[in-house]
Amino acid sequence: MPVEDRFAGKVALVTGAGSGIGRASATRLAAEGAAVVAADIDEASAGETVEQLRAAGGRAAAVAVDVSDPASVEAAVAVAVREFGGLDLAVNNAGVGAEPEPVGRLSVAGWDRVIAVNLSGVFYCMRAEIPRMLERGGGAIVNISSVMGVVATPTASAYAASKHGVVGLTKAAALEYGGQGIRVNALGPGFMVTPVKGQRARSEDVVGGLRAQHALGRLGQHTEIAAAVSFLLSDEASFITGSMQLVDGGFTAR
Ligand code: NAP
Repeated sequence: MPVEDRFAGKVALVTGAGSGIGRASATRLAAEGAAVVAADIDEASAGETVEQLRAAGGRAAAVAVDVSDPASVEAAVAVAVREFGGLDLAVNNAGVGAEPEPVGRLSVAGWDRVIAVNLSGVFYCMRAEIPRMLERGGGAIVNISSVMGVVATPTASAYAASKHGVVGLTKAAALEYGGQGIRVNALGPGFMVTPVKGQRARSEDVVGGLRAQHALGRLGQHTEIAAAVSFLLSDEASFITGSMQLVDGGFTAR
């Protein structure tokens, strides 16, 4: 359940906020009192998220962003400053999948796109967010990785490499900024009820197989990830930084 006013007076940026985990995280943070900048490559879907947040009584603004473009990311962060006066919290969540091919057949374009969005995008976001957080005397960041940040599966090389990269990037930033009041953590979801857009549609057989790989025997709900995002961003997690928190229904336990 949302914790009332946990983020009162705080400003949060959520990328990929038009769908899935991003929308659920934006919803949760707004319900807990944060002013939320909902950023997505699809401005209309970010706008829908904002409408929902406002209808529920939250403060929110939508912005179009392509996280693989550093100038676009700078502009999105500037919206937080312009609309709400600064930035305290960030959920660097936007991500894409690649075509399911083994390394020897994966297209260079497919590799480049996944690395650009999932890994370079997180770098561009933190690079733009951290100076704004330092102006406020600190902050907290959650970078959305994946179970593929600690293990891999065949035909997911670019995705796994990008998500492992997010974990290393998170640790380095945590070490660099811990002394200045900024906590940085990675979060590794297990398989969600809906795949990342662009990934192969799942047959019922595939879904059944995926369920069986999670100790809980089911796939995850976006709200379950949002709950962990909220905790990691909150003062309840004040001694947690540089970590990779798995929220994976036991996927990596085997
Ligand atoms: P999703 O429903 O596809 O949402 C991702 C959002 O990011 C979409 O709204 C998408 O917009 C947006 N986006 C894509 N490229 C972007 C870019 N360059 N700049 C800004 N926004 C962009 O996926 P999800 O399942 O919520 O995934 C969110 C994060 O969780 C991703 O990092 C993903 O890798 C990770 N994750 C997901 C799962 C899973 O099973 N779903 C498991 C582990 C980790 P468009 O719709 O217009 O493309």
